Amino acid sequence: MNKNKVELYPPEWAFQFHGHLCPFMPLGYRMGIIAIQHMGIEREKDHTLHVICELGEAHPQTCMMDGIQVATGATYGKGLIEKTFYGKLAATFWFPQKTPLRIALKASFLDQFGTQEFFAFRKKGIEPSQIPEEITMRAIEWAYSLKKEDIYEIKEAIDFVYFPKKGSFNKDKCSVCGEYVFERYLRTKDGKSVCIPCSKY
Ligand SMILES: [Zn+2]
Ligand SMILES: [Zn+2]
Repeated sequence: MNKNKVELYPPEWAFQFHGHLCPFMPLGYRMGIIAIQHMGIEREKDHTLHVICELGEAHPQTCMMDGIQVATGATYGKGLIEKTFYGKLAATFWFPQKTPLRIALKASFLDQFGTQEFFAFRKKGIEPSQIPEEITMRAIEWAYSLKKEDIYEIKEAIDFVYFPKKGSFNKDKCSVCGEYVFERYLRTKDGKSVCIPCSKY
C-alpha cells in the first residue's frame, strides 16, 4: 500500500471495532495519521502520545474519536485520549519534545459534507447501520476524494500546555469493602482509608 492509501483507508478491523460503517470514523483515522506523520512519531505502543479531543457528548460525529484511536494507538484504555467537552470537531496531539499539533475539521468542509444523502437519513433518526451501504460509501468516498487541506485545518499549537498525570502502582485496600483502590483515588473517612463509593461523598 502506498503512503497515501494508508492515510486514507482505515484497516478492516477498525470498522469491526467501531461497529458500523460511517464517514466520521474514517475522518478521525485520517486526522490521526496526518498528526503522527506531521509530528514524525510512530503509532503509540505504550503511554507517551496524548490526544486531547474537543468533542463533547450527545452530538453527531463523535465517531471520529474511534478513528483517532485506531490510527494513533492513543487509546482510552491506555488513558491517552480525553475530551474537553467543547463540542468542537478538533483534537490536539501532544508528544514530549515535539510541537503540539491541533487539527480541526473546516467549517467549509462540514457545510459541503452535510449535503450528502447520508445526513438526510441521520437527521430522520436512522442509525448508521440501518442506512443503505452504498449511501454511506458515497459519503466516505467523497471525503476520501478530497485533499487533506480541503478537510482539515492543521496548525502547530505552540502555546498548548499539557501535563500528563504521573503513573503510580501504589494501591491500598478500602477499609469498608476490602477492595483494592489506587492511591490517587483513596479517601479518608474517620481516619481510615476508603474507596470513593464507600466514602459516600
Ligand atoms: Zn460511526
Ligand atoms: Zn470501599
